[in-house]
Amino acid sequence: MGRLISIASGKGGTGKTTTTANLSIALGKLGKRILAVDADLTMANLSLVMGIDDAETTIHDVLAGEASISDAIYQTSFENVDLIPAAIDWEHVKRADPRKLPSTIKPLKEHYDFVIIDCPAGLQMDAMNAMLSGEEVILITNPEISCITDTMKVGIVLKKAGLAVLGFVLNRYGRSENDIPPEAAEEVMEVPLLVVVPEDPKVREATLEGIPVVEYAPDSGGAKAFMKLAEEVVRIA
Ligand code: ADP
Ligand code: MG
Repeated sequence: MGRLISIASGKGGTGKTTTTANLSIALGKLGKRILAVDADLTMANLSLVMGIDDAETTIHDVLAGEASISDAIYQTSFENVDLIPAAIDWEHVKRADPRKLPSTIKPLKEHYDFVIIDCPAGLQMDAMNAMLSGEEVILITNPEISCITDTMKVGIVLKKAGLAVLGFVLNRYGRSENDIPPEAAEEVMEVPLLVVVPEDPKVREATLEGIPVVEYAPDSGGAKAFMKLAEEVVRIA
């Protein structure tokens, strides 16, 4: 039986989608069978980041009752990694019922070692339905105090809801001299710091190419940090 891990944050733009893609590929490189799911129903972009832009069937069709889940699973070009993409047009968004996310995603752990779920930011219903599709959660924050406190709140709510909070990723560290240092961030978050991912131009370059950085530039600081995150996630099983 595999593990269901939600990738969550208090704010948008912190690196949830980037982490979902890179953690999935990194775990695939470690020989694990991975399913990455785009559960950010209104701001979907995981499939673009992972180089798939022509998916016929998406999670939206499944949540609208118009397709079966097996039709929405695609093999990616990355070793051991499958993907469930999401639609980006409003017609699909309107028809999809987000409340069906947990019952749709949870059974998939039967077929994979890890199901990694890219969630919307915050604590609105769409985000809650996506995050509660997981049994464990990794929180993503940037080194700014408002981002850290909002992400901490998400962690507290999810813990109360019964999810195991594995810890947090401090992403985009080193962009500003006012960045909150890792030790101080860990003190505020009150959950383990899993890895510090540096601000790395290769991460954005990779995104533009549709090839996440662990594959695009394996020797970069960003790639090494995401590989370390994967090893840590396997270790704390
Ligand atoms: P979210 O899914 O949380 O909204 P994204 O993963 O889409 O955030 O990241 C937002 C932007 O930040 C993207 O353009 C991404 O390429 C960039 N980014 C994420 N992590 C890093 C990093 N460590 N270094 C540089 N750019 C990053
Ligand atoms: Mg995102």
